[in-house]
Amino acid sequence: MRAVTIAAYGGREQLAVTEVADPEPAPGEVVVRIAAAALNRMDTFIRQGLTGPGVRQPRALPHVLGAEGAGTVVDVGTADTDLAVGDRVVLYPGLHCGRCKYCRRGQHSRCAHYGIRGEDAWGTQCELVAVPATDVLRIPDDVTFEEAAAAPVGYTTSWTMLVTAGRLRPGERVLVVGASGGVAIAAMQIAAHSGAQVLATTRDPEKARRLAELPFVHQVIDGAAPGWCKEVLAATDAEGVDVVVDSVGAPTWRDSIRSLAQGGRLVVCGATGGDTPDVSIRELYQSHRQIIGGPFGGWDDFQRAMEFMFRTGASPLVHAALPFEEIAEAHRIIEEGEHIGKVVVRPS
Ligand SMILES: [Zn+2]
Repeated sequence: MRAVTIAAYGGREQLAVTEVADPEPAPGEVVVRIAAAALNRMDTFIRQGLTGPGVRQPRALPHVLGAEGAGTVVDVGTADTDLAVGDRVVLYPGLHCGRCKYCRRGQHSRCAHYGIRGEDAWGTQCELVAVPATDVLRIPDDVTFEEAAAAPVGYTTSWTMLVTAGRLRPGERVLVVGASGGVAIAAMQIAAHSGAQVLATTRDPEKARRLAELPFVHQVIDGAAPGWCKEVLAATDAEGVDVVVDSVGAPTWRDSIRSLAQGGRLVVCGATGGDTPDVSIRELYQSHRQIIGGPFGGWDDFQRAMEFMFRTGASPLVHAALPFEEIAEAHRIIEEGEHIGKVVVRPS
């Protein structure tokens, strides 16, 4: 089969579309013919062989990239499943043992054997993927493969942060920091659908203009302005917001925490801008504020988040859908931060 591979770590010139062996389904696995696979910032880290927080090197090269994928079931093998050949499906991106107490509770991302497809095993940017039948979810006919492939990481992570860990309540105010990628878009949609007033920061004037046009965004804050938390306070009757979603990290935590109301929660799923922030402990406890980790969730969060998307018609905003052959351009869009929403690639 054809696949997006890297044979060595490095720049975008290392990306290639090559022939690799078809997957052999293990007991309990089904084979899915991929129609669309989405990119994440993680893809660009893996391509470079980076080993930052949560980003490990793949075990062997060549490696097939891609955490997210959607397509059609072509073989159910020996799996005990009600899936049938021809079913349109989306894949849960997490790898897990399936047997421990966390896996049995649907909290797969807490499993000792937890990993991410495309990082700790071959990924989805190829023609055929063998996955446990229990990691496959049917999608409605009116959801496109591109939308389904673009949804799992953003919606599941946002669901974990805002609903499971952040315990978002109707009528609260939510601020999404550095709003442009799949997690940010999903977080704003989930918050808005729960009745929250949604604010977003971006450092890019063009992105600010596009964010302001989205129906679920109440106000856009200039994230390039020093002390931008003042603008958040001005927009919220000096009260601040109840929840901040921050995946930037060190550069934004100070303003994020100062944007929080009394008892507000900072929910965190990443630190792409730096891992060791300068934080005032007094600013936390004296205002009853909390910092909550909410990384990518388990099957339970994935299923609820995808059902949210199917039920509400929310879209992950596919910024670009390109053929595998343009994978270098897909990486460029993400590395240069051009996108609002997700970048998707297709086998043909
Ligand atoms: Zn487990």
